[in-house]
Formats: sequence, structure tokens, C-alpha cells
Amino acid sequence: MQRSTRLVRVLGDAAKKLEKARGLGTVGDLLEFLPRRYIDANTSGRLSEFTVGETAVLVATVVSAQTRSMRNRRGRMLEAVIQDADGTTARLVFFRAYGHDSRLLPGVRALFRGKLDAYRGGWQLSHPDYTLVDGEDDTVYEGGLVPLYLNIPGVTDMQLTQSMRLVLDQLDDADDPVPPDVRDRRDLVDQPTAYRLLHLPRSMAEVGRGKRRLRYDEALVVQTALAQSRHRYDAEEAVPRRPLAGGLLAAFDERLPFELTPGQQRVSEEIAEDMARSRPMHRLLQGEVGSGKTIVALRAMLAAVDAGAQAALLAPTEVLAQQHERSIRAMLGDLAEAGMLGGAEHATGVALLTGSMPRGQRERVLLDIATGPVGIVIGTHALIQDQVMFADLGLVVVDEQHRFGVEQRDVLRSKALRPPHVLVMTATPIPRTVAMTVFGDMDTSSLTELPRGRQPIASHVVPASRPAWLERAWTRLAEEVGHGHQAYVVCPRIGDADDGARESDVEVETDAEEYADEEPAETPRELHGVYETLQRLREEPALRGLRVEMLHGRMTPEDKDAVMRAFGAGEVDVLVSTTVIEVGVDVPNATAMVVLDADRFGISQLHQLRGRVGRGSAGGLCLLVTESDNPDTVARLEAVAGTTDGFALADLDLELRREGDVLGASQSGRRSGLRLLRLTHAKDIELIEQAREDAGALVTEDPDLLRHPALAELVRSRLDDEQAAFLERG
Ligand code: ADP
Ligand code: MG
Repeated sequence: MQRSTRLVRVLGDAAKKLEKARGLGTVGDLLEFLPRRYIDANTSGRLSEFTVGETAVLVATVVSAQTRSMRNRRGRMLEAVIQDADGTTARLVFFRAYGHDSRLLPGVRALFRGKLDAYRGGWQLSHPDYTLVDGEDDTVYEGGLVPLYLNIPGVTDMQLTQSMRLVLDQLDDADDPVPPDVRDRRDLVDQPTAYRLLHLPRSMAEVGRGKRRLRYDEALVVQTALAQSRHRYDAEEAVPRRPLAGGLLAAFDERLPFELTPGQQRVSEEIAEDMARSRPMHRLLQGEVGSGKTIVALRAMLAAVDAGAQAALLAPTEVLAQQHERSIRAMLGDLAEAGMLGGAEHATGVALLTGSMPRGQRERVLLDIATGPVGIVIGTHALIQDQVMFADLGLVVVDEQHRFGVEQRDVLRSKALRPPHVLVMTATPIPRTVAMTVFGDMDTSSLTELPRGRQPIASHVVPASRPAWLERAWTRLAEEVGHGHQAYVVCPRIGDADDGARESDVEVETDAEEYADEEPAETPRELHGVYETLQRLREEPALRGLRVEMLHGRMTPEDKDAVMRAFGAGEVDVLVSTTVIEVGVDVPNATAMVVLDADRFGISQLHQLRGRVGRGSAGGLCLLVTESDNPDTVARLEAVAGTTDGFALADLDLELRREGDVLGASQSGRRSGLRLLRLTHAKDIELIEQAREDAGALVTEDPDLLRHPALAELVRSRLDDEQAAFLERG
């Protein structure tokens, strides 16, 4: 029997329930279905640990049991009393005694799992699942450790354990994806043993050893994929692109109204060196919002144009693409007006390409891109659609990496005849472990200081439970506008024009859903929506006479663009929006931001949002409004208010959020596929570093893993999953 063997062939009909409830179709799927936790049948699980209404899991002894007939039903019921290790008792009832009366005899010990009810001042379990832990089922739990799984209707934990044993006893010694010498060096058990230790443990120490092995597997698969992709990049031939002396870049530098910061100079040199090589650049540029990445990227694009090539800038949204185009045109001035009257000597063409452009216009742009007069193309993912052909694509800049999957980057790379140089920019500071895991195939550069003259942002948490505070927040907003500045008000949802609440109106860009289940105890309430807030602010006395507009993802691209233009031109005082403004929107005159339901956003997201204010020379103000009085929630917001160090916040974010949220589909295109690894745990960080070293060595020796077919297969299936996830997202 192999991992790929269908479970039906091993377990018969029982397999259907596993498939239906948890999608477990193969032996491998079953083995990967790991216990949620373990309890020690000898010591743990006491009635006093649970409250009425909860699902109790405990080992108890049957002290008495009898069957009797019922008044208004046929058949006999079983009534028993069980006693836990503390001596606490509970009543047990089965309305159909048959099958239970022969097993639940006085003196028998069993693991019970069921909903705890109150019954005449005591406790009761009605027809719980149970497993005898000694006597007839004795062989199931050898060491008294009972693995508990996610519930599968109609299948008890004990039956699962029995299935695991059946499968493990027959599993063929397939190739272990981790070579023996690596296992020895890292003190890891082989794979079948790992599953045995996790599903049939005799001690928690065994569980630990099993987990360590599977964590290592996860790390090794990721690191191997990264090592292979790095190896491929290194083997590719790119065209070196060096700037012309006295060319476009030089002309641009001459006009720059400021000096580059030392960091910008350093990073620019790194990029220039990369681009001058005949192997494609593959570099990640990290830097706080406002640290000046865009200038650095633009200079690289100009260098590419100088070298006779084209450069493409990919933005995650249309709003951002449009904004990039505007600011790049503004920065270039007549250097962007190639072929036009008044164009400068070294001028190039700049074109915007988005999905919503009218067809005719789009076709003209496509033609210009294909034939060459356009040196710089700015666009959304429409850029990577099939019809787009470049005359000679030399550099791809991807803005805000978190919104793009790796696959998209790769599609764009494939647009070039020879692999282009690739620069990826991210404003979200990435903790080292994440960088190692998600961007491990790239070189990294960081801009750590902000350009001089930038003023700090003052942030405060505003408890909305006190109306006077919220009132004060609107007054502060009005004061900022009174000083000639502008402000944002951010809401977690769009809401409806007629304000009937709709299910579907959560803006995709928010973290609202990820955080939604964090505070189950709080009464659900309506989150602030853009429409409702717009209405409210237009009626708010403190804001009387101010021009308030809105921006959100359900507006047409033209409307969005019009609002952004008006805001950029200072014709709108207060912009009520969803997180569409999160990434990169740049209006230096906007100095204040109020985030409503701030608790609904992630730490990094708040930090990112806050970066929208204080971009000019005036100090910024950010008010984080929350209706929550949950101490953890407030502490999280206070942490954001207390520091503007993005790396510190990123680490904190990683600690507080579940792994899947940090690396999940919403942020990284499901890049990590991590289940057991915790990127914040010191032990796992060490494991990742070891796996990185091992993967590097394996791939250097055997790039296509021909001598390691099991590992190759694992990497392939992981990449397939990614591919599938990518296609799903469309
Ligand atoms: P990022 O893309 O990292 O968010 P930008 O490149 O958009 O940052 O820069 C933010 C603002 O700072 C822009 O208005 C830009 O013109 C300005 N800026 C960039 N570099 C410098 C510098 N060296 N000195 C002064 N201002 C700068
Ligand atoms: Mg930017």
C-alpha cells in the first residue's frame, strides 16, 4: 500500500465519511490528517475543566449502569453514572441502550466526548461518543495517550486511530523525501515513523519528535523549491542594461529637486550592478511607505530605457497604476514626451495600460508597446494578458509584492525574449523568517531611513464608546482641514447606497474577515460602512462646509480616478474610503487619518494605512477608533499607536496572527503552504535555516533532483497546489 492508494480500498465504506467530511481520499491524506491535541487517559480530562454547553472530553470510569423502558417510546434506554479522576460524577444517557449496555459496564474506563448539559444540579452527557480505554479496546491506545482529531460525523476518534494503525501497518517503505544522511545530520526520524509517533504516540516526547520531522519536511520543500528557482535564474542569460552617459537617466538626475538619501544611492548602485550583469536581476526592495522606493525604481527604469529597452511597472490596483502614471509623468516632465512637440532630447514615451481602458485606446497603446515608442509602461495585471507584446522588455518592476503571486511575476517575465531584470518593491516590512520563506530566491535591499524633512505621525487610540472622544476626533479632522490640509476616513466595509446591509460588501482588501473570529465573545455589530459614514460626516456639525467624498472598490474605474484626481488636486477635503487607499496612494497634503473600527484591521495593515498621511513636510495625525474594549484588542492598537517602526510591528503582527493569515492567499498568493511551521518560533527558525542549508546543498549537487525523486515529487505537488490556488483566484 502506498500513500497514493485510495482509502476506500483499505477502509471500505468508512472511507466515504472521511472523504465527505474532510476530503481525505488517499492513504497520504489520512496520514496528513493530524490530531488536534492529545490527552493522557490516565491523568487529564476532568469535568471541572468544562462548563455546561461545551463539548467535554474526558476519561472516566463507569460506576453504575442500568437499562429501563421509557414511558412514551419503544425500546430501552441506558442510564449510567461515570466518575472522573477527581471523583466528580456525571449522568450518562443513551435513549437506545442497544449496543451500549454490553460495553458500558460498571468498572469500565472510557474516553467520553460529548456536549455537557446540566441535569438536576449535576452534569449530564447525552449519547456521547466514547472509546473504551482498557478492556476490549485496550490495544488502541498503547501508552494511554489519546489523539483527538477534528470531528468527522459518524467516525469516532478511536475508529480513526484504528484506521491509522491499519494504514501504518501496511504502508510500503516508500522513498523518504529526506535523504538518510540529512536525517542523520539533523537527527530526524524517517517519515513512516513520524506518522506513527503522531498518530499512535506513547508519550508527548514522541509526538514532539514526529512533529519536528514534519516541520522539517515543510521547510525543506519550500527551501528546495526556492533553491531550484534561484538556480534557474542564475542559469538564465539576460541582456546587460547599462545607462548611457549623458542619457535619459542623467537628464532626470539633473532635474531632481532633492539629493538622493545615502540609502537610495546605495540601493541604486546595487540595482545598477545587477542590471549590468548578463544574469537577470531578481531583487526585492523593502522600504517603509515614503522611504523613496519609487524614485529608485524610476531611475532603474530610465537606465533600462537608456540601454534601448523597455521597462514595465506593475501595480496591484488601477487606482495605483493611474497614480503611478501621473506621478511619473510629473517627475519626468518633458522627458516623458518623446515624439511630441516640446519633448526633451532624450525623452521617452510613458503609457498606461489597464483592464478598463476603452478598446480603441487600448489597442493604440498595445501597438506602441509592441513597436517601441513607449519606453515605460505602467499597468495593472492587464499588462500580463496574452495580447501584450513588448518590443524589448528589459526591466520589470513589481510594486507592492504582497498583492502579487509569484506566478504573475513569472508570466510577465515570460513576455520578454530574454529574461528581463526584475525588481520587486514592498512597503510591508517583512520579518526575516518570512523573507527567507517567501522571498528566499531573491536578493534583498532595504531603505531604512526616510528622506529628510519628513515629519513624524502622531497616533492615538480613540475609544468610540465615549461619544465625546469621537466628537473630538472629528474636530481635530476639521482643524487639519482648517490649516489647509486634507484627511482620510477609513472604513472596514463599503455598505450600501440605501444602507441595507449586504453580506457581500466587505471590501476584499481588508483583514476584517481574518480578524472576525478573534473576539467571539463580543456582540456582533454593524461595522462602519463608507456610504453610511459619508452621510454621517456630511451631517456632522464639526465638519460643516467641508467637501467630503468617497472612494471604494465597487465604484467604476472612471469614478475612482475622478475622485482621486480631485483629492490630489485639493478639491476634496475629506475622503471616506475602504482600504483601496492602503497601498501607495500619495497625496502629500493629506495629514490626518481616522480609521473606524480599527480593531478590524491587522497591525501591518494599519501601519500601511497610516503611511498615507505625513508624506509631506507637515506632521501627520492618525486616530484609531475602536468600539472594542477587549484588552487584547486595545493593546494591539496601542502597539500600533506607540511605534512607527514597521519591522517591529511586522514581528508583532506575525506573533499575533495565525500563520495562514500572514502568508495566506490574501497576502502572498498562498506561497508558503505551511501547516506546522511557526515562523515566529525560535526552534522553527533554526529548522528553516537548517533546511535552507540542506536544500542549497542538494540542489547544487543535483539541480533537477534526479537522485531524490520523492523530494522532487513533494516539491512538484506543492507547486501544483500553488498553481491551482492561483488559477482559482483567476
Ligand atoms: P515610496 O514609494 O517608498 O512610498 P516615494 O518614492 O513615493 O516613496 O517617495 C515619497 C515622497 O518622498 C515622494 O513625494 C518623493 O518625491 C519624496 N522623496 C523621495 N526621495 C526623496 C529624497 N531623497 N529627498 C526628499 N524627498 C524625497
Ligand atoms: Mg510607493
